[in-house]
Amino acid sequence: MHMLDRIKSSLGCCDRPSLETMSGLGIERHAAFAIQRCKHCGQHFYYRCDEFDDFNGPTSVTIWYMALSPDEVASITARSRSTEDHTAALPARDVHIFSYREGEAEFVHRVSHKMPPRIW
Ligand SMILES: [Zn+2]
Repeated sequence: MHMLDRIKSSLGCCDRPSLETMSGLGIERHAAFAIQRCKHCGQHFYYRCDEFDDFNGPTSVTIWYMALSPDEVASITARSRSTEDHTAALPARDVHIFSYREGEAEFVHRVSHKMPPRIW
């Protein structure tokens, strides 16, 4: 199974997950944010991708997914016009974290209980 297929199936929204980007929430240095939706079941997700280039080691990529209700999507999308900090607008809820380091064969998947702030 392809790594990205494994990520989609790990989200657990349905048995045939297929993600599409609904709206971009912006790109910052080393990060991108978006609202994604499963085309099959309609579940919305907050998506965040952090990329870190370490000159002394492998590049690492971390992808975050948090399931959102349509109301939450509307409030976060509205807030994104006035602030770049979407993290503060997110509910305290489980977030799927997929971490990858260049050279490894697979993402490491774990679940946290809220979205942490960005560290750079
Ligand atoms: Zn789905």
